[in-house]
Amino acid sequence: MKYYVGIDLGGTNIVAGVVNEAFEIIAKESAKTKAERGADAVIADMIVTTKRAVEKAGLTMEQVEWAGVGSPGTANKATGKIEYSNNLQWYDVPLVAKLEEGLGVKVFIENDANAAAYGEYLAGAGKGCTSLVAITLGTGVGGGVIMDGKILTGSNFGGAELGHTVIEVDGRPCTCGRLGCFEAYASATGLINLTKEAMEAHKDSKMWELCGGDISKANGRTSFDAMRAGDEAGKSVVDLYIKYLSVGIANMINIFQPQILCIGGGISKEGDTLIRPLTELVNENNYIRDPEKRTKIIPAKLFNDAGLIGAAMLGLEA
Ligand SMILES: [Zn+2]
Repeated sequence: MKYYVGIDLGGTNIVAGVVNEAFEIIAKESAKTKAERGADAVIADMIVTTKRAVEKAGLTMEQVEWAGVGSPGTANKATGKIEYSNNLQWYDVPLVAKLEEGLGVKVFIENDANAAAYGEYLAGAGKGCTSLVAITLGTGVGGGVIMDGKILTGSNFGGAELGHTVIEVDGRPCTCGRLGCFEAYASATGLINLTKEAMEAHKDSKMWELCGGDISKANGRTSFDAMRAGDEAGKSVVDLYIKYLSVGIANMINIFQPQILCIGGGISKEGDTLIRPLTELVNENNYIRDPEKRTKIIPAKLFNDAGLIGAAMLGLEA
């Protein structure tokens, strides 16, 4: 059996794990990122956390094939540097060199959303496929594109920012500075905004009851739960949300035509309530008319583990 280390570097947590060649996580350790300490302190903790995970797996670093990192921001695989991460406030951090020195194994880096897509491709929703697009509906919208086994990064490692494509001209402001981005509508944040607006407009909606009368308690489930309880305003929020989602996803499918498009994040746990009407709308706008050849839209399977498994297996792609 061969073993690999994956490190999922996030704004809040560092998670390091040992993954075997069957793509199973056999040991995992974590630490707080506390990025305000600066890159060197974070990298030192990445090394310590990794060594703890390897020890927990009953292995030594010598028995590990390589380590891979999914990091926020622009991960330049040619130079081994994280060029810029807004989340971590990193500029030109030589992550590969420092980790290779500290861990004594070869290190690969990749953008975190791309690494998560690669994990889903290898071991989750895309297992057995040759192409996959993954989107994660969270605070923002993470995206990754795998074509013929390769992670699509663009010429400068900044590609596949699927959330920052406009679906409404002069629409809602996005955190990136553009107006009308897919992310501003399709993220959990976007859904919560739609929910709050509908609550303001419909004071008799069940959504108020579900939030205990406190609009700040509205979350990604509020409108779905209200719809299930027969609430019209809740249903209209869900319908509108799915419509926005379908426009962005139809765009991605018409560009990439992957075998699988998988959707992760808390909202994907709505399952068929989300996937069935979404697929219907996307299919109406799919350039491919043959239903057999159309992209399948399915929920992600690995959730939080996708980034770790994808990171651990980055050496397969290189
Ligand atoms: Zn944007």
